[in-house]
Amino acid sequence: MTQKLFYENMYLQHFSATVTGCESAQDRWHITLDATAFYPEGGGQPGDTGYLGNVRVIDTHSRRDEVIHITDGPIQPGEKIEGKIDWEPRFSRMQHHTGEHIVSGLIHRLYGYDNVGFHMGHDAVTLDLSGELSGADLEKVERLANEAVWKNIPIEISYPSPEALAALDYRSKKELSGDVRIVTVPEYDICACCGTHVHKTGEIGLIKLVNFQRYKGGIRIWMLCGGEALEDYTRKNKDVFAVSALLSAKPHEITPALEHVLKERDGLKLELGLLQDRLFEYKAAAIEQGSFTIQFEENLSPNELRKYCLALCERCETAAVFSGKDREWKYAIGSKNQDVRVLGKAFNGAFSGKGGGKPGLIQGSVTGDPEAIKQFFQHP
Ligand SMILES: [Zn+2]
Repeated sequence: MTQKLFYENMYLQHFSATVTGCESAQDRWHITLDATAFYPEGGGQPGDTGYLGNVRVIDTHSRRDEVIHITDGPIQPGEKIEGKIDWEPRFSRMQHHTGEHIVSGLIHRLYGYDNVGFHMGHDAVTLDLSGELSGADLEKVERLANEAVWKNIPIEISYPSPEALAALDYRSKKELSGDVRIVTVPEYDICACCGTHVHKTGEIGLIKLVNFQRYKGGIRIWMLCGGEALEDYTRKNKDVFAVSALLSAKPHEITPALEHVLKERDGLKLELGLLQDRLFEYKAAAIEQGSFTIQFEENLSPNELRKYCLALCERCETAAVFSGKDREWKYAIGSKNQDVRVLGKAFNGAFSGKGGGKPGLIQGSVTGDPEAIKQFFQHP
């Protein structure tokens, strides 16, 4: 059994211990100690990382009463070591875990919903709630949760007797037996939890509910606390000022400014399409009327190829338009009266092409010299 120093002092970053076991597992080692401050993965919280002497601890798991340190090197059993925890990520998890208690406790009290899932990933912390809430509801919860931070309330940890526990109204994710660890944020939450928390709510710094969406009959909330919330704010602030400069709009007016730009763009696209139609009509009118015409163009999109081809079909019975360069071509072949699909199949066969369409218009791509392509249509 490993003595769990993190329950005696959550803030312990350095400690001495004796190695009690070392097993190799593929290219990793599983090391056990007589005592540890490394918190193992559990309850949605990842395992701690750090060092045992010079050996790197990549992850920490629990196995029955033992804490398993997964390392990149072995240490002889019996050896005394100095353990060191990567404090920044651990403290961030303590902030997030405590923030989660306040948010879940508030939602439970205000709306009666339960936290049915909690996950602390590397780039996001999520809370799953058993019922739906609106953006306005969550703004209210966020405001109240931050008030709890400002009050700097000391967090209480207790192990009530079975009788006292039976009389206690607390949140719990599962049926519990044995010693139950109760984490209380006075006024806000009472919850059974064996995770790591800060001593006072003020240490959380900031609780930000970043996003939410419907999830399994309830909602999933993305939450950031402390330094990670600040980093997120800094990043988004930079983005807002960059967009504000690009749009020449005040930071809080970028949304209507962008809507205006997009509306203008849609209008220009429409106008451009109409001008192109007219251009294709003019170009087609300059071509001699006849039974067939073939045109090579630059930089026409498939839609533009189609439009030009149809304009040419008003002048010639059958028309073929190509756009591209070197030997790579996109094409449109159309006809007012003929089914061009048979011609297209032969053409694709002759020039390693692909494509198809309706009887009056086919589109595709081929590889070949313009002269050879012209030859093909003169003697198909
Ligand atoms: Zn907790």
